[in-house]
Amino acid sequence: YYAPPSQINNGFAELLDQEAKHISKVMRAREGDRLTIVDGQGGRYQGSILMITNDAVQVKIDKSENVPPSDPRLVLGMGIIKKRDRLEFAVEKAIELGVSEIGLFRSERTIKKNVRMDRLESIAVSAMKQSLQVWLPTITMYHTLDDFLASYTQAEWLVAHEKVEKQDHSFTDTDSDTVLLLVGPEGGFSPSEIDKLTDGGATTVSLGENRLRTETAVTAFLSQFLIQ
Ligand code: SAM
Repeated sequence: YYAPPSQINNGFAELLDQEAKHISKVMRAREGDRLTIVDGQGGRYQGSILMITNDAVQVKIDKSENVPPSDPRLVLGMGIIKKRDRLEFAVEKAIELGVSEIGLFRSERTIKKNVRMDRLESIAVSAMKQSLQVWLPTITMYHTLDDFLASYTQAEWLVAHEKVEKQDHSFTDTDSDTVLLLVGPEGGFSPSEIDKLTDGGATTVSLGENRLRTETAVTAFLSQFLIQ
């Protein structure tokens, strides 16, 4: 289960809302039952239920551990895509695979206007729990590609681009603390965006000969780093 650090204090954790409902109604847990809780900041706790209602569950913690963040940190930068279910799929799979941060940006060929951040945040919590992770990736909306890039000037930049001639796979051997993986929206990056990225030091990366949808490119790109 998930409780943010603000709900974990002095050896007690409080689970609220959906988490409490799930424990009480779906799991039909009782006082004394044991639970594992993650705080999304590397903390994993175990304990037993002291008090339970449909809206709140109080847990007495008797075991805790801290899991360090992944090294290097992988940051996914994704152009916003029009279809909501495809965007949500990409975010869910990126988190299951183990991305540390997600930045969504509008680029020249972005069509979509609004993104439901509340839905993406709840998908992030579910995906973190589903994949048994303890770090909750942040999801940030940027107005432009430039705004996004400005936040990661120290990182290594890799851009998935269909028009790369030859490719060696040494790009996964990195010394950087933070690696930015960029994937374009359904219309791709424009030539001037690609120029801007490569002028800024980005390496273009091919994901094979086939033209992939954005969400497929996201999972293919991340899995090269995260599944070894
Ligand atoms: N520009 C393309 C077009 O309309 O012809 C399509 C863009 S593709 C659907 C969306 C994004 O996925 C691209 O911007 C790129 O980042 C990534 N991508 C798709 N296929 C790729 C491949 N074979 N190699 C590298 N990146 C790829």
